[in-house]
Amino acid sequence: MVKAQNVQKNFGKLKVLKGINLDVKQGEVVVIIGPSGSGKSTFLRCINHLESIDGGMVIFEDKKVPAKGKELCELRSQIGMVFQRFNLFPHMTAIQNVMEGPITVLGKCKHDSRDLAEELLAKVGLADKAKNFPSQLSGGQQQRVAIARALAMKPKLMLFDEPTSALDPELVGEVLSVIRNLAAEGMTMIIVTHEMGFARDVADRVIFMDEGKIVEMGAPEQIFSTPRHPRTREFLSSIL
Ligand code: ATP
Ligand code: MG
Repeated sequence: MVKAQNVQKNFGKLKVLKGINLDVKQGEVVVIIGPSGSGKSTFLRCINHLESIDGGMVIFEDKKVPAKGKELCELRSQIGMVFQRFNLFPHMTAIQNVMEGPITVLGKCKHDSRDLAEELLAKVGLADKAKNFPSQLSGGQQQRVAIARALAMKPKLMLFDEPTSALDPELVGEVLSVIRNLAAEGMTMIIVTHEMGFARDVADRVIFMDEGKIVEMGAPEQIFSTPRHPRTREFLSSIL
């Protein structure tokens, strides 16, 4: 469904991605782990060209993702993204945040958008918080609204960049459980996370990135129990 072919990205002289190759199948959950600065976030951002790429290409549903223009916008609307920080519109309630995309980007009517938003807020366990503003929600609740907002665009692929790392520990579980449910429904996802227990349960495949390269990739049991590469072993032993 999404393929990265030799994706390269430089920031000035710094080579941040040195040729990433990845093929994600429909319904697959790929988790990316790796040390700080290894290029995980940059890679996610390159998938929908939030960052321009300096070499290689990204193919989404058999089409090369174009660098700009209308086609890129259309493609982007099919790829949902959830970041570390919740990025909700502060002046809108939870439900207005979720309705915004369908109304302004997809041109849906208010009535249908409201029905969809109610359904999605219920799905993330926030049916009773629809009228709260972000400032009236906990971090975990805000992040669940952010997930509902991304889902409102009916994405074919979801990208998560450390969705729980800004949360207090007791709020992490509620967000992970929403993501687990999406996995169970067959959503195709690429997730950057430091939550190794979660990675182990939810991933079909785990990728270890270091210094702008994929060092190792495999089934979660293999990566976590018998990592082959010394860098993977070193990284895992430093965090587990
Ligand atoms: P973390 O686990 O800390 O989030 P990461 O693996 O997501 O790290 P990236 O954010 O992708 O790492 O950054 C990779 C490298 O690219 C780092 O050295 C970073 O300083 C650099 N970098 C990222 N964004 C920019 C930018 N806009 N301009 C210049 N350098 C950047
Ligand atoms: Mg990052």
